Amino acid sequence: MPFDLPPLPYAKEALEPHISARTIEYHYGKHHQAYVTNLNALVKDTPLNALSLEEVIRQTAKDESKAAVFNNAAQAWNHAFFWKSMTPDGPVAPPQKLIDAIASAFGDFATMKDQFKQAAIGQFGSGWAWLVQNENGALQIVKTPNAMTPFVLGLRPLLTCDVWEHAYYLDYQNRRPDFVQTFLDKLADWDFAAKNMA
Ligand code: MN
Repeated sequence: MPFDLPPLPYAKEALEPHISARTIEYHYGKHHQAYVTNLNALVKDTPLNALSLEEVIRQTAKDESKAAVFNNAAQAWNHAFFWKSMTPDGPVAPPQKLIDAIASAFGDFATMKDQFKQAAIGQFGSGWAWLVQNENGALQIVKTPNAMTPFVLGLRPLLTCDVWEHAYYLDYQNRRPDFVQTFLDKLADWDFAAKNMA
């Protein structure tokens, strides 16, 4: 099997009370695992099984006949990135390098968080909200539908929040704004975001 479920970077109860162990059991143990399992089945005995996960995503992103491979590969990548976007040691103060880039792009940290929250709330249906760095090095907030991931759009991912219902429904039911606010205020790993900057 060419693709593995990467280990969760903390214990399944480590994000409580903000995200329950039960949510992690389903979200990581069932949903993330299923994307990896499906991907391995789809690439079995094809040339794609010799590629890195990133290469599979790049090669299938614009090929409608490979939509199932893309969706499972991109979801596998997005989830691995999402787990690393959160820390049990929060709230984390943003490093100076990130503060400066945020000030330049958004004015201040609060405005950036508000734009991120609006993107997360405004994603109709399933998808993701992202802090990214564009080709000019400037920070931006973007949202992507379903499995779409920013690096195939020429944007460098710094931090993401999963806004599929499976990410929050057990703990927050329909209150996506509360989940996103908690993500931003308590869980987001701004050190991770800063380390992802070019
Ligand atoms: Mn998810």
